[in-house]
Amino acid sequence: MNRVQEPFALYVHIPYCAKKCPYCDFNSYATESQAGSLEEEARYTRALITELQHFAAKESWAGRKISTVFFGGGTPSLFSAGAISEILEAANELFPFVENAEVTLEANPGSLQEELALERLRGFRQGGVNRISLGAQSFSDRKLKLLGRLHSAEDTRRALALVKESGFRNMSLDLIFAVPDETPEEWQHDLDQALSFPLNHISAYGLTIEPGTEFYKREKRGGFFALDEEVQEVLFRQAQSELARAGFCQYEISNYAKAEYECRHNLAYWRGMDYLGIGAGAHSYLGVPRARLAENDFSLYGQRWINLLNPRTYCISVEENGNSVQRSEEIDRDKALLEFFFLGFRTQEGISSERFSGLFKDSLETRYADTLKELKDFEIIEKKENSWALSARGRIMLDSVLERFACS
Ligand code: SF4
Repeated sequence: MNRVQEPFALYVHIPYCAKKCPYCDFNSYATESQAGSLEEEARYTRALITELQHFAAKESWAGRKISTVFFGGGTPSLFSAGAISEILEAANELFPFVENAEVTLEANPGSLQEELALERLRGFRQGGVNRISLGAQSFSDRKLKLLGRLHSAEDTRRALALVKESGFRNMSLDLIFAVPDETPEEWQHDLDQALSFPLNHISAYGLTIEPGTEFYKREKRGGFFALDEEVQEVLFRQAQSELARAGFCQYEISNYAKAEYECRHNLAYWRGMDYLGIGAGAHSYLGVPRARLAENDFSLYGQRWINLLNPRTYCISVEENGNSVQRSEEIDRDKALLEFFFLGFRTQEGISSERFSGLFKDSLETRYADTLKELKDFEIIEKKENSWALSARGRIMLDSVLERFACS
């Protein structure tokens, strides 16, 4: 199959939030009002569709199908059902969706408290969204307050009930652990609460302090104390065992799913598939056609680009040029190698020997014989049928494993 026939993943970035959270380093901007300005929503929606049309006219994307769509943010659930439906309709017209395409929308519990929330959720569903990912973060009001979230644990419970009532059967929940002063008991309460709802996917992220965030500034001033690594590890292992007990498989370092409910969109990233990102600050990746690698042309592995970050500047650029690419980079063999390990080791399926030889015309087992042996002897990685993956123990050592391969 050449690339022109291969489906791709579509990411749609909605950069608006009711308030900027102090730990957030995503490309998101606080809106004046809960729903944002309707005028802004309409202009941004038009820009997204123009951007889709721009890429539909490009040889690399024309005629291809969409396998998954992910509305991320920001807070996509601040947008109206009409705007989300309009974007999906335009995408489907330009790049027909594969059968059973996964269409996810990220929602914030705080954005689903108003009277018409149920109607809006039903509208998302009618427009083609079939999976909701709810940014709960915690069921502890202490943690939510510390994280600067506007919603309460009760708001999350209400939002989950509404999502269910509106007919969604594919629901995911985001949780954050390792916030200051968090104990295993508090984390257990989060896990128990999450498991009391009919979820089929849970993302559990350890809190990280990213440069440029409010937490980063507080940490620099000495007024913020992150949990030490040993406690973080205890909480990570707790999530692993509790979620496994409840039938969730850890298919990626921070992601757990019931069988058949892995997020196909994220798997596309980790498997190195092409993805088109539209919207302010969205990233895209386009690999070179496999035929070129088969012909031993290894000069270029792919191209990645990022859009302008600011939503207004993004809109102006798309209105003038059809796109808003801010910068792009070419992926050469060295970068492709690093990405192969970085993305592959995140997942339960791991790095495939066959894929390695297809991409790099080399044998993984020969080229990295010593490294593979050493990591296997320390039970950090495991050999699967035709691949290598991090062991349960190794999943908290991803950075060290990558360093080891980079130096080999
Ligand atoms: S709601 Fe999410 S995207 Fe928005 S500021 Fe908070 S963490 Fe960032």
